[in-house]
Amino acid sequence: MREFAFVRATSVADALTAIGSADTMCIAGGVELLNLMREGICAPGTLVDLSGITELSQVSMTGSALVIGALARISDVAADADVVHECPAIAQALEQIGSPQIRNAGTVGGNLLQRTRCAYFRNGTIDVPCNKRTPGSGCAALLAGATRAFALFGRSSRCIATHPSDLAVALAALDAQIVVRGPGGERVLAAQDFLRTPGTTPQRDHNMKANELLVRIIVPRGALARQSVYLKVRDRAAYQSALVSVAAAVTLQGKTIKRAAIALGGVAHRPWRLASVEAAIQGKRHDKPEFHDALVTAMLAIPPKSADATKRAIAMRAVERALREAVAL
Ligand SMILES: Cc1cc2nc3c(=O)[nH]c(=O)nc-3n(C[C@H](O)[C@H](O)[C@H](O)COP(=O)(O)OP(=O)(O)OC[C@H]3O[C@@H](n4cnc5c(N)ncnc54)[C@H](O)[C@@H]3O)c2cc1C
Repeated sequence: MREFAFVRATSVADALTAIGSADTMCIAGGVELLNLMREGICAPGTLVDLSGITELSQVSMTGSALVIGALARISDVAADADVVHECPAIAQALEQIGSPQIRNAGTVGGNLLQRTRCAYFRNGTIDVPCNKRTPGSGCAALLAGATRAFALFGRSSRCIATHPSDLAVALAALDAQIVVRGPGGERVLAAQDFLRTPGTTPQRDHNMKANELLVRIIVPRGALARQSVYLKVRDRAAYQSALVSVAAAVTLQGKTIKRAAIALGGVAHRPWRLASVEAAIQGKRHDKPEFHDALVTAMLAIPPKSADATKRAIAMRAVERALREAVAL
């Protein structure tokens, strides 16, 4: 590992001054970054430690929103009574991340900014092509052929990796906003547009600039967020990324779905909002066959139809199960 300088920031202003150079990266819990450095994926000359910026580690509630500081620890946010009550999908997504140690050390900001767990990206050597690691080198995953580990949606001819953040999926379903701050002030990004599909620049994971800090997450409060669930499907019950995950939220009038919000995880390099499915089940009674029929028809119509069939089938069943859990809350 390359030697690096270490700078402790105690305020956002401190950190913004320190991250000005291209050779500098910030470190929060270090759960992700130290792995990336060990794996040779990045080698910053200076690390700016954000962990002393206490103003970014709080969870608070306003009349209209839940506000989560970027440096809040995953385990603290998962256990926060307001988060559990106001946005159960977020608490459920967070409590299924990695292991207790990872949740105790990792921050919510670091979770959104983690990189893909694609084996070719993580364990690649210079002989294994990966356009995310070395732009222009190729994509070993594409050469190997699509499997259920890779993206169903938003793939490109350069990359088919998925993004592993559970939190990002819950935030996308709940129309959350991500606030970033740079030298010119703050910008607000919709959570569902924060992460990027690969396109021709798979090396870029998100829409934040290098000289910006992620400062907080804003989640609108309301009936939709309160009636939300997060379902994670994976090969073992703990310490594993989602094969497919679903954040689903509803509002009801009696047994009729007034509004639904659904985001899929594990199927793209960003949370995949299912707007057509949301529209198809709106106005349907969830206790009648019309609900299942509308859901299945809308899911089957989502293009492309060629990617891994098993994964699509799992996604379809997971969406229905998550919705049934949400309406039962
Ligand atoms: C074995 C393992 C299993 C895991 N399983 C899951 C899982 O099941 N589901 C899931 O969602 N995640 C999972 N994770 C990811 C884990 O949640 C993240 O690694 C962790 O949250 C990162 O947070 P951190 O504070 O340690 O970030 P760091 O490692 O400190 O930083 C990560 C990246 O974010 C940048 N960064 C951090 N904070 C900021 C900020 N405020 N502003 C700008 N840049 C910032 C850093 O520069 C770095 O590039 C797993 C990780 C591991 C190692």
